[in-house]
Amino acid sequence: MALNIKEQLKNCQHSHTALLATNFYNLETLLAIFKAAAEENVPIILQLTQSSIDYIGLDVAVSMARQGLKDYGLTGWIHLDHGQSVDLVHKCLDSGFDSVMIDASEKPFQENVEITAQVVEMAKAYNANVEAELGYIAKLGQQQEYNYTTVEDAVSFVHQTGVDALAIAIGSAHGFYKATPKLDIKRLSEIHNATDAILVLHGSSGIPDDMIKDAIRNGISKVNLATEIKDTFMKNLKETLMTTDEIDLRKVFPKATNSVIDLLRNKYNIVQA
Ligand SMILES: [Zn+2]
Repeated sequence: MALNIKEQLKNCQHSHTALLATNFYNLETLLAIFKAAAEENVPIILQLTQSSIDYIGLDVAVSMARQGLKDYGLTGWIHLDHGQSVDLVHKCLDSGFDSVMIDASEKPFQENVEITAQVVEMAKAYNANVEAELGYIAKLGQQQEYNYTTVEDAVSFVHQTGVDALAIAIGSAHGFYKATPKLDIKRLSEIHNATDAILVLHGSSGIPDDMIKDAIRNGISKVNLATEIKDTFMKNLKETLMTTDEIDLRKVFPKATNSVIDLLRNKYNIVQA
């Protein structure tokens, strides 16, 4: 019997390893995750955002993910990434998600606490893992300025909400970095020592491999990867399209899918090491 996601993340926390949580956007990116994970023989977290859910359809997305996990013989869980409303979280839990993120990080601290606590309460009936975000991790298109999570806030937030996992702001951002990012490992390590919540690194695209490893050694148990998946797929697809008039998309897409497989195999190795 496979572990549930909470148990798996706890194991990671104790052994100073991490799970790679990858976003998927369509069948091709989902297949790339399955194939890479099967080759590397690693457990995975499959993430959907509101926009991917709107694009694919909630039930289609969950069915594809579940069936694929089975067919590829993988251990994996489905997670809602950056859930913006309690209503969406509820829908996802009803659709069988193993894990949900409620992101009220742009609201004042106490409001974030209240919304997160509400989701934690709701998720109990589903035995689902709940992730929240504390501090400012710039979203795509937002100014990459930093409002780091403090140790005091993290302790108080986890205590007040009972949340399982916490995305912390330690110098990462979503999207592409203008300059090489530098993670505040000391702060991470202090937060890790002060709370037993699972710590999550968002915005890992473009963070140097060694820095990701350092973060995992110092308390990160879940690493989110999204931007690099989209970027790799689209860049490769664009290259192919420049050189061919092939209209059979089933002949064109696999090259782009393969480029994502290569990317992910490398990332799985970084996270496992
Ligand atoms: Zn994120």
